[in-house]
Amino acid sequence: MTTAASKVLTFTQTDAEFTEFFERAQEISDLGNLLGLLGWDQQVKMPPQANQVRGPQLATLQALLHERQTHPRIGELLNVLEPRVQGDGYSDADRGLVRLMRRNYDQNTKIPAALVKEVAVATAEAWGTWEQAKPANDFASFAPYLRKLVKLMRQVADHLGYQGSPYNALLDQYEPDMTLDTLNPILDRVRDATVDLLRRIQESGQKIDTSCLHGNFDPARQLDLCKALLQKMGYHFDAGRMDQSSHPFTGGGGSPFDVRLTVRVDPTYFPAALMAAAHEGGHGLYEQGSDPALARTILAGGASMGLHESESRLWENAIGRSLPFWKHHIGLLRDAFPETFSRYGVEALVPALNEVKPSLIRVEADEVTYNLHIIIRFELEQGLINGDIDVDDLPSLWNQKYESYLGVTPPTDTQGVLQDIHWSGGSFGYFPTYTLGNLYAAQIYHTLHRAFPDYDQRLEAEGTGFILDWLREHMYASGQVYAPDEVARKVTGETLNPEYFVQYINAKFGALYGLSA
Ligand code: ZN
Repeated sequence: MTTAASKVLTFTQTDAEFTEFFERAQEISDLGNLLGLLGWDQQVKMPPQANQVRGPQLATLQALLHERQTHPRIGELLNVLEPRVQGDGYSDADRGLVRLMRRNYDQNTKIPAALVKEVAVATAEAWGTWEQAKPANDFASFAPYLRKLVKLMRQVADHLGYQGSPYNALLDQYEPDMTLDTLNPILDRVRDATVDLLRRIQESGQKIDTSCLHGNFDPARQLDLCKALLQKMGYHFDAGRMDQSSHPFTGGGGSPFDVRLTVRVDPTYFPAALMAAAHEGGHGLYEQGSDPALARTILAGGASMGLHESESRLWENAIGRSLPFWKHHIGLLRDAFPETFSRYGVEALVPALNEVKPSLIRVEADEVTYNLHIIIRFELEQGLINGDIDVDDLPSLWNQKYESYLGVTPPTDTQGVLQDIHWSGGSFGYFPTYTLGNLYAAQIYHTLHRAFPDYDQRLEAEGTGFILDWLREHMYASGQVYAPDEVARKVTGETLNPEYFVQYINAKFGALYGLSA
């Protein structure tokens, strides 16, 4: 870290109001991180009977956090500090903290406590019903709960305030400042380009042999392989750990010093754990890369959900499924599974890791078709919130879109509209951040190639160290100091542009499937 950069990320220590504000912000950050730690424990280590006490403990801590976040003194201090930090003598970190605290304060004070409670009760009921409706293929039993959540989310949007569609208010919770006016044309472009590429891939008749990925792979060796890969990527185990959970995630007690991730092992298919390690490792590197000056402030960590997902996707797909990466790291696989990888080399591995195959299930989707799964959900939830789509019509609209974009039709709602947890938890506006992640990843990948004209040769010769150094300096260190658009401009020179992703998939998969340009 250069002196100039450190100064930008240092907080002002000479202003009495700012000091009081900073201490309150630290308390809020601590409470949030403790909730994160308890959440990690719940999914990874907690004994079953702890359920009896964990729920109330989380509720107590949540209430305490809400009380601190909405304290009237925060509002007073924000009013004083907002104009003041624009002047000389204040750093980017000061301005970032005031910006983010204002955003959180407004969001937390705008929604009445009674509505917060109503949403909490409704999501608990909806989730409980969805958990039974999904295996039973029983959308009808879930529909009334979903309808109620849609109604409540519209009320939440009304309280938050919006221009245009109420969906904008919900989207903004996950991707600050993003609106449908910007997002719709971007996702239309991605959808049309992807449907076209998928059609050309299928017409090529090319089949990829994926047999090197399937077999019997000892779970303990898989876990060692994941740890070895994370170490090579530059993930610090003295500021994190790797465990197992049913759904892989990254969490922990506070960036950059406590960033924990999980994987899920499939004994017959090693990429399930290995590529989850690369994905969560990308999230982890972003979190561990925050400047230490940002620790115990809400500015540590990723600048938005979309930018966070860009780093998991960059490391998992653009880097972690590439030929130069595996030319450098094939020894890891040979050491872990000599029986398989004495027979197979990178020429078999890399195409197999990139096979394109339309499927019904989002979490199993490849790099090309993944965004179509997201765009279907985005189009449907936008219609639900705007009132253009009725809940009862969801299953048939879902199936029509799968048929039209992916060429597959779900035989059951279990494999269709009921597959994801998100809507049952009231998360409307979350899905698009997955695709935003893929788009930002391609844009950043393009920037890396501009910064390093010998990118491929270097990656093959020396591994990913130079990539991580660059990302830390240009993106990770500043955490949430800057708003998402500004991060994109600082890192890549422009705001989100879907053409980089369109070029990326056409070049990569055109070569893999031998398509003419
Ligand atoms: Zn992710």
